[in-house]
Amino acid sequence: MIEPVEAPVSQEWGLTRFARDNPHVYGDNPGHRGRDYASFEGASVRAPEDGVVAHVGTTNVWAWGYVVSIVAGSDRNERRHYFCHLQSGSASVAEGDEVKAGDPIARSGCTPNWPPHLHWEIRGGGPEVMGGSIDPRTLLHPDRYSKSALRTYARTAAERAGIEPAIFARQIERESGWNIYAHGPDGAFGIARIAPRRHPTVNPWDAYAALDYAAALMADHLGAFGSYELALAAYNAGPTAVKRHGGVPPSSETRDYVNSILGEKKVRPVQSIYDDPDFWLKSKWEELAQTAIQVVNRARAGVTPTDDESRFLNSRYRDLMENWPRLMEAERRRAAGEPRA
Ligand SMILES: [Zn+2]
Repeated sequence: MIEPVEAPVSQEWGLTRFARDNPHVYGDNPGHRGRDYASFEGASVRAPEDGVVAHVGTTNVWAWGYVVSIVAGSDRNERRHYFCHLQSGSASVAEGDEVKAGDPIARSGCTPNWPPHLHWEIRGGGPEVMGGSIDPRTLLHPDRYSKSALRTYARTAAERAGIEPAIFARQIERESGWNIYAHGPDGAFGIARIAPRRHPTVNPWDAYAALDYAAALMADHLGAFGSYELALAAYNAGPTAVKRHGGVPPSSETRDYVNSILGEKKVRPVQSIYDDPDFWLKSKWEELAQTAIQVVNRARAGVTPTDDESRFLNSRYRDLMENWPRLMEAERRRAAGEPRA
């Protein structure tokens, strides 16, 4: 496949620059579903691959303006190329025409409120992300986006960031299975499953940039927390959660994530908080202490505890006392280096 016009790329497929620059207005649909070229008005636009012209004319859909579309791939049914904001009436082809890669099809134009550019969008046959559109880079450079090329690059990115390449590779395997179109309901996208809401400076759909970013992020977490166990937990659940819990957060999702990547039972799955005395002590004791401090401070100012606060303090206190022998036994085992019961 060849590029449809000779001009620099001004906006890639993926997160728009606007969404990246304005994370506070980042919505559910921040994506640029095509690739823009900063081509001057009147530049020749050519067919990127062999196909059949499916449509020529003006459309109001997505403010595309004057459009030529071409169906291509196996049975001329695999994908559809859209060339948008063309110079009105500039098509040199008609519906039903066969075109070869490189054939001129129309002239580049502009939209009323934007500098001249060509918008090239490919739909259909692709993964159902970004409205079913396909990143043109993966078709222009299929070798560059193969699993083995991405694996090789992940190793380089890990080495450059100073983290263990084998662990990083297992992490990416776990995140996306090397699928550059991976996405989920959690709002984390792409090969490294990066959430733009939390990381607005990187395009999560740009596989190479995302690998670099993820490796640097892991290096940061490793520096802050000192172990892969905690660094991975921070990548999965966020550094705040790791700090708050003073360790791997107790969610089974995060524990499973860490264990599957480190390839051993580094952290135990938690069935209930009582199975993890450390966590139990820290979180429950902290809650009790926090509430007690507030109550005492207000008592000093002459304010009596509310019924809710009294009930909470009483129930937490009972809870702690009932479990005290169990917690002390866990603490003795920990101090003696014995495995947990
Ligand atoms: Zn565009």
